[in-house]
Amino acid sequence: MRYLLPILLSCLVASCSTTSFSSRESSGGVSLALDHWGHRPGPQGFQTVIIDAGHGGRDSGAVSRHTGDYEKHLALDTAKRLADKLRGQFRTVFIRTGDSFVDLDDRVALASRQGGAILVSLHYNSSPSSQVRGPETYYWRVDSHGLATRIQRGLESVIPARSGNLGLRRRRLRLTRNPQIPCVLVEFGYLSNAGEARLCAAPGHRDRLASVVATAIRTQAQLGDAGTGPKPPPLNQPLSRPTDPPGS
Ligand SMILES: [Zn+2]
Repeated sequence: MRYLLPILLSCLVASCSTTSFSSRESSGGVSLALDHWGHRPGPQGFQTVIIDAGHGGRDSGAVSRHTGDYEKHLALDTAKRLADKLRGQFRTVFIRTGDSFVDLDDRVALASRQGGAILVSLHYNSSPSSQVRGPETYYWRVDSHGLATRIQRGLESVIPARSGNLGLRRRRLRLTRNPQIPCVLVEFGYLSNAGEARLCAAPGHRDRLASVVATAIRTQAQLGDAGTGPKPPPLNQPLSRPTDPPGS
């Protein structure tokens, strides 16, 4: 069942910017236009950050049996902390500002209305194995690799990644493949792991997580992809659909 967004845009006042974005903007030679595939360098000079707090409403996301925390609440809390840290430098747009359900395709449609913007979707993870832990950052588009790399590096400075695991992952998800702007999905940690769940329950820890994501966004806006290593190859794959088999 599709839900219409009750509130399509909840713009928090991150700066005094009232700039409206056309789809033809560019900065530093790096295109910021809306783009279907994203086979291009990462963005530079963008001024709008769309912040998507994962889940919401009847969709709780993961629930920690260790702390009782709901992913949807932790994600929204972290989203608001991130917006605070970007205030004054970026215009921020929230997909949701309260405990409301928003369909994934509606989140994508909302993001794709914005030229000159990036999207970050914020989540906390869960696994059937209580041993699994560590932050992960997902991307699909070539133009999202640099930002994802920066975010994952930042997260690993706060939460050491589990050994042997590369937390930077290219995966075709609805929020990494389908938006027409650079987009990254962040999993801050596993609520199914006792130690990490307790860490994520601490407001100070979530504040540090928000800080490193804000720093990564600022650096990406200043430098583009510089220093983020070779770009991944272009991949032409269809849009991600809810009916796709897991892991496809
Ligand atoms: Zn989630």
